[in-house]
Amino acid sequence: MKLLFLGSPGVGKGTYAQVLKEVLNIPHISTGDLLRAESKKNSPLGRKISDIMLKGDLVSDEIMLEMLEERIAEKDCKKGFILDGFPRNLVQVNHLKNLIEISHVLNFKADDEVIIERLSGRLTCKKCSTIFHKTGNKPKKEGVCDACGHELYQRKDDTSEAVKKRLEVYKEKTKPLIDYFKNEGLLVEVIINKPISEIREQIITKVKDYLEGKTDKIGEIK
Ligand code: ADP
Ligand code: ZN
Repeated sequence: MKLLFLGSPGVGKGTYAQVLKEVLNIPHISTGDLLRAESKKNSPLGRKISDIMLKGDLVSDEIMLEMLEERIAEKDCKKGFILDGFPRNLVQVNHLKNLIEISHVLNFKADDEVIIERLSGRLTCKKCSTIFHKTGNKPKKEGVCDACGHELYQRKDDTSEAVKKRLEVYKEKTKPLIDYFKNEGLLVEVIINKPISEIREQIITKVKDYLEGKTDKIGEIK
């Protein structure tokens, strides 16, 4: 099953992907995580990526595609994967269509206030990238990852200027993909206006029902 997660920065794609990957036993590929791993290396490419990400801009399609192709060629992706953060523009969509057959596209939607609140309170594990929130989805022990015990930090691009830019880039370049996937009959709407735990349950149930053949498509989640 090859799932794409679409939606504004901060809408919670990463949080829900973490849940679903366990249930489906397929990897969660976050292109943001791939880029952050590269940017940690103090290489010319790493520094270039860091600069772009800090500004909240998109990394070039060329760099992004090369990294993605390499990742999905790995063995653990054979059964499928959750792709979170890709595609982000039409060029990337067209490349992706040549690479894989997309099963469904989950489009996560939330109000702007929810998004800003989520981004400003987001905490990420330095080691395994698990996502928590200062108030909503707190770790059991303050500042420490539940999953691996490492330190949590606030992403540098979760500060106000970069957030503003990321939301602008999303509206201009990524949002138009919603209609595109709708026309292709691949879109599943996920409306985030309930606590994480409820949305989590619904996503799991609906995806499972589909996989077990109980439904012929994944219905709207809200
Ligand atoms: P968010 O979705 O919350 O903005 P991500 O971790 O998905 O966070 O992305 C962080 C940054 O990584 C983006 O602002 C952008 O600079 C870069 N990035 C991630 N995915 C892509 C992509 N598909 N194409 C270009 N740049 C990307
Ligand atoms: Zn961790």
